[in-house]
Amino acid sequence: MAKVAVVTGGTRGIGAAIAKALKNEGYHVAANYAGNDEAAKAFSADTGIQTFKWDVSDYEASKSGLAEVEAALGPVDIVVANAGITRDAPFHKMTPEQWTQVIDTNLTGVFNTVHPVWPGMRERKFGRVIVISSINGQKGQFAQVNYAATKAGDLGIVKSLAQEGARAGITANAVCPGYIATDMVMAIPEEVRTKIISGIPAGRFGDPDEIARCVTFLASDDSGFINGSTLSANGAQICS
Ligand code: NDP
Repeated sequence: MAKVAVVTGGTRGIGAAIAKALKNEGYHVAANYAGNDEAAKAFSADTGIQTFKWDVSDYEASKSGLAEVEAALGPVDIVVANAGITRDAPFHKMTPEQWTQVIDTNLTGVFNTVHPVWPGMRERKFGRVIVISSINGQKGQFAQVNYAATKAGDLGIVKSLAQEGARAGITANAVCPGYIATDMVMAIPEEVRTKIISGIPAGRFGDPDEIARCVTFLASDDSGFINGSTLSANGAQICS
């Protein structure tokens, strides 16, 4: 039987590319989103992938959203914690709200996404947890104290989950994208984007499909001995 995969933030950007790639690999895929119904509707019409709306920063909403996914598609085998936001500001100007919003979505959101499906993975002796971190969690970034903290935290989460899940047939790995051409990056002012590209040895932004291919590999049976790893995909912006 086809395995079931859920992708948070799976209706736009990197998440949409991941959801489509997993569907093309033959998985039953559910794509979660937060509030952009129009984008979710267009994505679903385009791909035939079922969408589910909940806020990953809310534990109870995540639990019931994931229960809805399981009722519709079956037990979740693969969970891709991709939903993420930025609220950038230099540290001296960063507000407690900007800090909390990013922590709640990008870090607590990973706990909220994985925790409800973890017991089922343990029982069935199979699971794939893939967390979309960031190059900025590896090296830090100006005006992203909040975001970098969450993305570095993701790496701690997967390294710990890997140790807890290994004997139960569960792997947990992170993908660290560099700059990828999505709404999040295209919202950066053009002069800043040009400066960023000049610092990427590949001389370009990445494509969402290039991240999706990392995820389909980590989701596959072939990756069973890769556990607690970080896969960097950043056009040679070597940072660790
Ligand atoms: P986008 O802004 O293009 O898409 C974000 C997606 O996440 C949307 O589907 C959005 O839903 C969803 N989302 C946001 N907040 C929530 C929430 N609270 N609950 C549920 N869903 C939510 O982002 P990207 O594709 O650029 O980024 C995806 C991930 O990759 C993020 O974790 C990001 O940090 C990471 N990343 C991105 C990089 C890049 O260069 N783009 C580089 C490195 C890492 P809705 O449509 O409803 O708003």
